Amino acid sequence: MNKLRFQAIRDAVNRQPNTFYSDQKKSTLFASHVFTKKAMRTFLTKQAYSEVVEAIEKGSKINRSVADHVAASMKDWATSMGATHYTHWFQPLTGATAEKHDAFFDIDSNGDSLEYFDGSQLVQQEPDASSFPSGGIRNTFEARGYTAWDPSSPAFIYGSTLCIPTIFVSYTGQALDNKTPLLRALSAVDQAATQVAKFFDKNVTHVQATLGWEQEYFLVDKALASSRPDIMLTGRTLVGHKPPKGQQLDDHYFGSIPSRAINFMRELEYESMRLGIPVKTRHNEVAPNQFELAPIFEEANLAVDHNALLMDIMGKIASKHHFKILLHEKPFSGINGSGKHNNWSLQTNTGVNLLSPGKTPMSNLQFLTFFITTIKAVQNFESLVRSSVASAGNDHRLGANEAPPAIISVFIGTQLSKVLEDLKHVSKGKLSPQEKTDLKLNVVGKIPDVLLDNTDRNRTSPFAFTGNKFEFRAVGSNQNCAIPMTVLNTIVAKQLKDFKNEVDKLIKTKKLKKDDAIFNVLREYVKTTKNILFDGDGYSESWQKEASRRGLSNLKTAPEALSVWVKDTVIELFDSMGVMNPIEQKARYEIQLEQYIQCVEIESLVLENIVNNQILPTAFRYQHMLIENVNGLKQIYGDDFSKHAPVAMETIEKISALSGSLTSFCSALSKARTKANSMSIIEDSAQMYAKNVLPLFLNIREAADGLELIVDDATWPLAKYRELLFLR
Ligand code: ADP
Ligand code: MG
Repeated sequence: MNKLRFQAIRDAVNRQPNTFYSDQKKSTLFASHVFTKKAMRTFLTKQAYSEVVEAIEKGSKINRSVADHVAASMKDWATSMGATHYTHWFQPLTGATAEKHDAFFDIDSNGDSLEYFDGSQLVQQEPDASSFPSGGIRNTFEARGYTAWDPSSPAFIYGSTLCIPTIFVSYTGQALDNKTPLLRALSAVDQAATQVAKFFDKNVTHVQATLGWEQEYFLVDKALASSRPDIMLTGRTLVGHKPPKGQQLDDHYFGSIPSRAINFMRELEYESMRLGIPVKTRHNEVAPNQFELAPIFEEANLAVDHNALLMDIMGKIASKHHFKILLHEKPFSGINGSGKHNNWSLQTNTGVNLLSPGKTPMSNLQFLTFFITTIKAVQNFESLVRSSVASAGNDHRLGANEAPPAIISVFIGTQLSKVLEDLKHVSKGKLSPQEKTDLKLNVVGKIPDVLLDNTDRNRTSPFAFTGNKFEFRAVGSNQNCAIPMTVLNTIVAKQLKDFKNEVDKLIKTKKLKKDDAIFNVLREYVKTTKNILFDGDGYSESWQKEASRRGLSNLKTAPEALSVWVKDTVIELFDSMGVMNPIEQKARYEIQLEQYIQCVEIESLVLENIVNNQILPTAFRYQHMLIENVNGLKQIYGDDFSKHAPVAMETIEKISALSGSLTSFCSALSKARTKANSMSIIEDSAQMYAKNVLPLFLNIREAADGLELIVDDATWPLAKYRELLFLR
């Protein structure tokens, strides 16, 4: 009897829901642990408050004496809330979050203890950062970086620690984190979009990108997960046969949420709300044990921080409820994976969503401008968009036959396609008054009605327009949103800047009226973007062929996709937009390749261990039992024994065959890994992991799952899919 597995099953079955209850009203709970503008007004002087607000809204610098005052007030607020420590909270290139706690405590010259926290500690810190990845930016002789306060994301108290969101840069000023390039991209899109929005409304002075993410995840019982080294060490199952009852029944989606999960969600939502994460939606997802959580959208930098924070607290709260949370993109073979849809739009300081059609033809021309430039941006940089979501985990969704495909295309629905079709026929140069009226009444004027009917949402598209925002669906559930958001906002900023220049040029050289110039430029954009538009089934075989005819890239593995980062056009893009210089970009590329290699290497080692130390010994023991059985029958029946033991004989042979394949595939795996590790060029190594190491996982899995089906259930060491999934 496999004690561990059975104990785990017993524990999981007997687990009582860890109830969570709070009667605090959502409205008083929300952001109660955040140093919000409201808290700042209470704790800061008027002048300090207005400087901080200006820094938040306009990105201006805060002077040192104000920083001291802010620090002192922040400390007073934090200690009044029970905080004892503070930390700079940042997002190094590992994709996770990092923190180093210091106490609000010092000893003065008289030897007396006091609570202390001043401006210099708020504004800048020097974590011992040599162990964070830097892609060669920080030489070992000056392995130092510093974190610097990002006032645009408010400080918050988590547990008993005041967390101050910061950027993380090297002493030479190079970005060592995910937030710095994001902030630069957001500033680029702000500048470019403001210029274009001014064509339509002179009052616009500022445009912010908005992001509403939808986080998918799996919950499995902690005890069951602990019986599986693959789940514990890699976040996914490397072996395991599909359960007889899978998602084919589709009874989980929007079904009632199991009570253990509900209690977890309640506490997660409570904690999120306290931290100012405006969580709103929760529901079951398609697969068993899969759930989704989505907040109300926010300014993109804040939304990215909130998602990173959420991923962190999810793990902690799951553990309290005896769950292991799986944020991996594909934890179970044959069962839907998890993504993180990034809903994105642009919003003006005057409160207008630039991707929402308005009530007048003019506001609709503004909508069309932002709508079409976004499509054009994606068309120009489709492979970079794909690259922004590249990771070992996400390859199991994107490259494999699962939503969405590795090909980036844009879905806009039939009605908006018709609008674009009409725009193609706009006359060159000056438009006649009749044409203008026609356009305004029949094309631009009709958009709001069109959108109301536009309910045919295509779920297979990686980048879909959904009424008043674009939804980038290829983002992985385990990813930090900063990278895809940096890419998206940079390419859109670049396109808007080009658009502005082209319109200005037509106004100046061709003496066109502003509207005519805009129509002229949009016409050309529409003509050149038809390749990226696709409304059909993104999962189909025929789309792969069609996309290849259209010249769209289909980068199935992360190493292929990542190579886009170092293309000349991409280096030039980031550099010219002030988002990343070539050194920062190259560093990121190398770090991501390294992470890919490490991930597949660890998975391959864990897989080998499971096979050699758990699966094979179990199979051999069972085989031995069968052999004894056959020997017994031989003693009773003599030469006639085989008539009485056909099944046992067959199983003995199957076990020999499957164990034989397991052993030879494992040794092939080990050889392939050694070869990949011996490559001196990192690209070669990553390619070999993708092409030679990873495919062997499937062979191994097939043999291991074959054994799972025939070996005595009572001795099987790993919790099975049917036990891991299906919460009671
Ligand atoms: P679905 O699951 O159908 O895609 P949801 O309602 O779950 O839709 O998610 C929609 C997400 O889009 C929410 O997170 C919401 O806050 C976000 N969203 C709505 N409007 C905007 C916007 N203007 N900018 C960014 N995100 C938005
Ligand atoms: Mg969605």
